Amino acid sequence: MSEPTQDTPTNDGSDDEMPQPPTPEPTEPTTPTDPDPDPVPDTPTGDTIVWEAHTWYSITYACLTVGCPNENVVGSAPMFYSNDGQAKNIRVIDSTCGKQSKILTATKLNPQPVEE
Ligand SMILES: [Zn+2]
Repeated sequence: MSEPTQDTPTNDGSDDEMPQPPTPEPTEPTTPTDPDPDPVPDTPTGDTIVWEAHTWYSITYACLTVGCPNENVVGSAPMFYSNDGQAKNIRVIDSTCGKQSKILTATKLNPQPVEE
């Protein structure tokens, strides 16, 4: 015969207090303000995108030409080839103004499309 184990503490009917060890106050420096000290977005931008050569990406881009109907209009391309990986060879041309659009983000496709 084994005694049933009581896991649930009961508050009723307990007259004797359990001796509690003194709880030390937490002395860790807490900074409730400034919850976001690093506002740098982790989204890759066109200036910091590290392209892998001969790789397919999904990108977003926007034309930054002032006065263009597509100015600041973010477009996307689900399949974009990085060519040789050189930024100078990775361009998105806005068909409306004929100027180079800025690539905002690039996400490597996983898995890569199979080329025949
Ligand atoms: Zn444009």
